[in-house]
Amino acid sequence: MSKKKKEIKDKPLDMKHLDIALKCSQIYKIINEANLDLSKLRDECDHPKTYIGDYQTHYGHIIENATICFVCNELLNTVSKTPLSLYTNEYTFKI
Ligand SMILES: [Zn+2]
Repeated sequence: MSKKKKEIKDKPLDMKHLDIALKCSQIYKIINEANLDLSKLRDECDHPKTYIGDYQTHYGHIIENATICFVCNELLNTVSKTPLSLYTNEYTFKI
C-alpha cells in the first residue's frame, strides 16, 4: 500500500461520518435480518401458485421467462430461449 493511501486510511473520521457509518451499519443489520426472515418464509412456502415472468436477481440482471412463486416471489426455475437442440436438462421441451 502506498504511503498516501495509508495516510488517508489512518485519518480519523469526523462526527458526520461516524454517524453515517453507524447508520449504515444499522441498516445493513436490518437488511440481513430481513433477508433471513424472507429465506425462512420461502422455505415454509409450498409455492402453490406460480406465474411466468421476468425476474431481476440484482440490478441489471434479469432472467426472462422465469417461474416465480405468486405467494413468496421466489425464483423457482427458468426457461431459456436457447434453441431446443441445446437443451440437455430438465427443461427440455418434448416435441
Ligand atoms: Zn412460494
